[in-house]
Amino acid sequence: MEKLAKEEGKYSTQLVEDTKVLCRENKLVIPKKLQHRAVQWYHHYLQHPGHTRLEETLRATMHWKGMRNTVRAYVKKCRSCQVNKRRTLKYGKLPTKIVITQPWECLCVDLIGPYTLRGKDGSEIDFMCLTMIDPATSWFEIVKFPISEHEFDILKGTKGQKGKDKHIQSMQPYFDKMSATVG
Ligand SMILES: [Zn+2]
Repeated sequence: MEKLAKEEGKYSTQLVEDTKVLCRENKLVIPKKLQHRAVQWYHHYLQHPGHTRLEETLRATMHWKGMRNTVRAYVKKCRSCQVNKRRTLKYGKLPTKIVITQPWECLCVDLIGPYTLRGKDGSEIDFMCLTMIDPATSWFEIVKFPISEHEFDILKGTKGQKGKDKHIQSMQPYFDKMSATVG
């Protein structure tokens, strides 16, 4: 009995534009046959919000029992929401690839290494490599990248020593092998 009295205390009637309406805690009580239309109107004019936001919006100004169910059922059935439903992807989409068709229009380069090669005589050579790929033709090139000043000088020809040149030449098969492996 007490509970019912408390419930009744929540209801009141107010005049809205000369029409007597029933309110519950100052919120408009929507009769059963208008509930669906209210949901429909709000869902349409708020541009298809999800059931949570739609329910919160409705709840701010109106009341009916089982509003949550009405709202959820409506949103679930909304054709537009079904078609354009936001998928909860946990990853982004890759941007479309810009295809390069002109050979050498673009060159993809990378530095790999450092590597250490050991010759038959036990000598070692440390080096890095520069890789180049032409994305249009997939042509691949790899060159040894000198890292020591001495080697750089030899390549430039400023301090060309025949013996050392031979040493680098003896490493050539290794570079070729690597080139074939990486390529
Ligand atoms: Zn919708």
